[in-house]
Amino acid sequence: MSSDWTLSVPCRGRNGFAPSDDQFNSDRALRRLCGPLLTVCGPCPFRAECIATVMPAQAKFDGIAGGRLWSNGVVIDAVDDVFDEELAEPKLRATCGTEAGAKDHARHGESACPSCRQAAREMDVRRKTSKARQPKQLQLDFAIT
Ligand code: SF4
Ligand SMILES: [Zn+2]
Repeated sequence: MSSDWTLSVPCRGRNGFAPSDDQFNSDRALRRLCGPLLTVCGPCPFRAECIATVMPAQAKFDGIAGGRLWSNGVVIDAVDDVFDEELAEPKLRATCGTEAGAKDHARHGESACPSCRQAAREMDVRRKTSKARQPKQLQLDFAIT
């Protein structure tokens, strides 16, 4: 099992940290709704872990995570003693089966998985096909003018 820091967080068993979209319609309403919960994060020693798990900026999160109140992935309020170092988020991996997924494998020094390999191959074929079409298109343009 992975680390169990979540078992000893002050917010354990408490609700309202990640409200659904229909519970607020503005930053003001979000502040009213979640702002009071920020004090729960005050003594929490796991703010960095919390942010690395929720990835609020990349997930465009609304609610409380890591001692901050987030709106659409942007911090709009925070407990007093936050540190920028707590904000590090692991980069989200691109979905497998896409060209970006294949690039991500390369970036991590892995060989691409079968679905990424196929996506990269298909993209390559598409590029070559569209390149092959280009001169004809140009001739056509000249013929029209
Ligand atoms: S920082 Fe995260 S884990 Fe800690 S109390 Fe706040 S919401 Fe819970
Ligand atoms: Zn893959």
